[in-house]
Amino acid sequence: MNPNSKDPSPTTQTGPDLAPEVAPELAPEVGSGEPAPARRVMRPSPKPPLPPQTRKGAGNRVAHAAFEAAAAGVGLAPERARQRMVASLRASGIRDEGVLEAMQQVPRHLFVEDALASRAYEDVALPIGHGQTISKPSTVARMIEIIAATIPREARSRAQVLEVGTGCGYQAAVLAEVFGEVVSIERVRGLAEDARARLRPLRLGNLRLVFGDGRLGAPSAAPFDGILLAAAGAEIPEELLLQMKVPSRLLAPIDSGGRQSLHLVERVGNETWHLTVLDAVRFVPLRAGTT
Ligand code: SAH
Repeated sequence: MNPNSKDPSPTTQTGPDLAPEVAPELAPEVGSGEPAPARRVMRPSPKPPLPPQTRKGAGNRVAHAAFEAAAAGVGLAPERARQRMVASLRASGIRDEGVLEAMQQVPRHLFVEDALASRAYEDVALPIGHGQTISKPSTVARMIEIIAATIPREARSRAQVLEVGTGCGYQAAVLAEVFGEVVSIERVRGLAEDARARLRPLRLGNLRLVFGDGRLGAPSAAPFDGILLAAAGAEIPEELLLQMKVPSRLLAPIDSGGRQSLHLVERVGNETWHLTVLDAVRFVPLRAGTT
């Protein structure tokens, strides 16, 4: 079944475009940081089949000396600033230790302009040029935590994840610390090039950056254990729904008349996707084509 087609009698199938089952208790105020325990809509099912040979990727430890040296100008030593950031993520409800460790590892101050480096560990979105922004740390942590929630720690180094909207590359780096293989796509050439240059010293061998229209996904690397969109469209591109493993999760901010909410899609069968609407959010727009 085409996941975007309206099935007149969806007794056993739930297309992600069908009327969302909004769970009000899963819609905390923006920024409250309360983890929204995703509604259990997946039937107990075996773990995704393991690829025969996988690259060992998760557990990268980025090259500290290089980036810490570059950190002059950040008031607090960056490592300490990150510890404080992680402590506040924890206090705001992020529980996944793998995600918290990754947030501790990745030097966010290297992903923003020098003039903004001193604010890099505040929980704010910051401009990265081309009218785009780097997402707030709490948003990055929460989105990755939701994607990771159904992938046990020991399986993460084999998990393949797609990010749409590389931006400056920060979230891509965090993803590469958590998961085995990450593909990240950016449609603005200047941003894609800057992200490549920024990420190079971190030597994340399991992160592949692609310049292109992320609405088409990455067919050569699909299917994915998780897909995250960092930009809000009116609907979830069908190609992305089809590039999800069974089972797997996709998170996308969806814009409906100027109001955005985070949509969690779980593919539970070849032709069955379940949708849960989570928090109100604010992301830049998902646009077609490249520039
Ligand atoms: N992941 C980033 C957030 C980037 S902002 C972080 O670490 O903070 C969202 C990005 O999505 C922007 O850079 C924007 O150019 C990009 N984007 C928008 N539409 C896109 C599309 N169709 N394909 C790929 N990237 C897209």
